[in-house]
Amino acid sequence: MSEMADIQWFPGHMAKTRRMIQSNLSLVDGVVEILDARIPESSRNPEMDRLVKGKPRMFVLNKSDMADDDATSRWMNYYRSAGFTVVKLSCKSGNGMKNFLPAVKEQMLEELMKKRREKGIENAPLRLMIVGIPNVGKSTFINRMAKSKKAKAEDRPGVTRTKQWVKLGDNVEMLDMPGVLWPKFEDQMAARKLAFTGAVKDDILDIEALASLLLENLAENYPGALKERYKIEPSGTGFELLENVGRKRGMLVSGGEVNTERAAITVLDEFRSGKLGRITLELPEGE
Ligand code: GDP
Repeated sequence: MSEMADIQWFPGHMAKTRRMIQSNLSLVDGVVEILDARIPESSRNPEMDRLVKGKPRMFVLNKSDMADDDATSRWMNYYRSAGFTVVKLSCKSGNGMKNFLPAVKEQMLEELMKKRREKGIENAPLRLMIVGIPNVGKSTFINRMAKSKKAKAEDRPGVTRTKQWVKLGDNVEMLDMPGVLWPKFEDQMAARKLAFTGAVKDDILDIEALASLLLENLAENYPGALKERYKIEPSGTGFELLENVGRKRGMLVSGGEVNTERAAITVLDEFRSGKLGRITLELPEGE
């Protein structure tokens, strides 16, 4: 296994976000956590189970256009059997987005809707808290779902962001929580997968080590993707795989050595933009 420095998060944000979530929970009927379908568990917030106690919950497996469909189905079954409502969608292609509101009403908030029907107040507003760690596509999701544009002021740097309600039509409102939800930074396997997907800024990482780890992972789980994209054999250490990619792409420096930094940037860019195919980096436990 190649070595890589630990990835750290910013503890300063955590207490504030935690407080904000807890103090706003009473305002919502359910909590929707957006996940990256390529790394569903690694893109979950480690404290959400504890923070949202008792509230109906739902997962949105976003970026499903880049994830392995078979793996996404397994994750959907896994979360369903754990009692969660779950939908898969792509904010990029729009696929699956129409399933979101029906899943909210018919599954996550089924009991509440039943009570409301009995009382004859079916059309009372439904309020959802939308949460997600950075880069899962939370803003894209909210913007695509929202019928009206968000207030301009919130986008200006230096203007304190406050929580805001975004109307979805159909009497559904989403609470877009400001504040940064932290990922599983204590779990270095999860942190690496987050880095592979681009959720952690590359300037704090050793990208050659990162690309080597990614290649090692792909050689084991998606060997066909490496053969097809780079015409390399999926064997050897991660760094050897990286050198092979660079050599195949003609990324050489004087003396004939491979420019592994350029190769690393290429591998990471191509993985992140889906050019290596639809890839999921983790499966439910026990699979
Ligand atoms: P946030 O930090 O969670 O608010 O994430 P953003 O909404 O800023 O999205 C992060 C990146 O992921 C952006 O480059 C988006 O264009 C991209 N993105 C969001 N949703 C999808 C999706 O469903 N598929 C793909 N391929 N990219 C997406």
